Amino acid sequence: MPYLESKSDTALATQIMKDYCLCSSCLGRQFPNYRHGLTNRDRGAYLAVYTQKRMASRSTKKCYICDGLMDRLDPLATKIVKKVKGCEFRDFLVGAFADLALVEKEDLIRATYKLRGGEPLKGDLTSELGKILKARLKKPVSYQRPDLVITVGLLDEEIVLSPRPLVIYLRYRKEKRGMPQKVPRCGKCYGKGCIECNGSGKSKTTCVESIIEKHLLHAFDGEGVKINWIGGEDEESLVLGTGRPIYAQITSPRIRHVKSSPYEEKGVKIRTLKVLRKQFPTQMGFIVKYLVNIKSDTIIEEGKIKTLEDYFADKTVKATNTKGKSSLKRVYEMRLRHHTRKGIQLTIICDGGLNIKKLVSGEENMVEPSLSQLLDCNFRTDPKKPFDILRVTTDDD
Ligand SMILES: [Zn+2]
Ligand SMILES: [Zn+2]
Repeated sequence: MPYLESKSDTALATQIMKDYCLCSSCLGRQFPNYRHGLTNRDRGAYLAVYTQKRMASRSTKKCYICDGLMDRLDPLATKIVKKVKGCEFRDFLVGAFADLALVEKEDLIRATYKLRGGEPLKGDLTSELGKILKARLKKPVSYQRPDLVITVGLLDEEIVLSPRPLVIYLRYRKEKRGMPQKVPRCGKCYGKGCIECNGSGKSKTTCVESIIEKHLLHAFDGEGVKINWIGGEDEESLVLGTGRPIYAQITSPRIRHVKSSPYEEKGVKIRTLKVLRKQFPTQMGFIVKYLVNIKSDTIIEEGKIKTLEDYFADKTVKATNTKGKSSLKRVYEMRLRHHTRKGIQLTIICDGGLNIKKLVSGEENMVEPSLSQLLDCNFRTDPKKPFDILRVTTDDD
């Protein structure tokens, strides 16, 4: 229809409204250059003045493009306000699930009348709904890392809330021996997932991880928890002092503030310290002070312990992991705490991630030099209480 190109905006609007029924927003959106500075809806309302007679006969019909959605923004906002009740957020963003059927209808009109440059329905809806919600919720709209994304289905008007994951820094103390740090694999399927473990591949044993997870899900009203450990301890270890720090990411948290009161269960004390503004950290340097209980087959002479203390004063050792990958770790200090005929208790300050049991035993040469290697004896950690964690320091303290 080339003759349409010469027609003015109002004449073209009249032509469109003769063929279709459009609401003010959907009509105005097709004429982005008509009367600058107006909203799509106001622009459409002006244009509609010229087409009023034709509209009157069609007024009971719903808008061809949006099916009346753009005229239902207020009740939709009311539904959203109700839904976000109890959800903590500082700022938000409105999104929409585009529906192909609606997009195609708008595309058809634009192609038929050669209309260019207009905003799509989705953008119009999200910005108009955002304005209404900003006033109702008294919170700003943010395009960068908003706390809450509210997504609306264009066709079914379904509302989905997506709170941004929360990254927190916390510390835990473990005051009783005999509990593993991480969830062991299911004993039946070895991690594959079976009926016994509900497909999770994890055993139901209570451990530090399961206690922390349960607590965080409850405290932040979230849907999932992912933990990044800062080092590890033995099942028989205690974690003392200010505790071991960890990072945890909580998905879909409806609560975003940190409660100051600590939580305790089965000798595990958890204190959430702060919400981190940065991304979920995957690797971080840390230094640990251990209390290590060592046993020996032979009598340990006092002089030999002095040798250990002197040798491991700021010493680099080579650590090899089970995959054969080597790294250098530093031992800053080694001090005798207690000495019996066939046992010693030491405090060791060293880089995090160094395997303490292997540093003592030198088993499979996984730490070189080891205490056993240096003194040419058969040292091993006490199986009942191998080592306790006295202090862990990180950059986030
Ligand atoms: Zn419409
Ligand atoms: Zn299983």
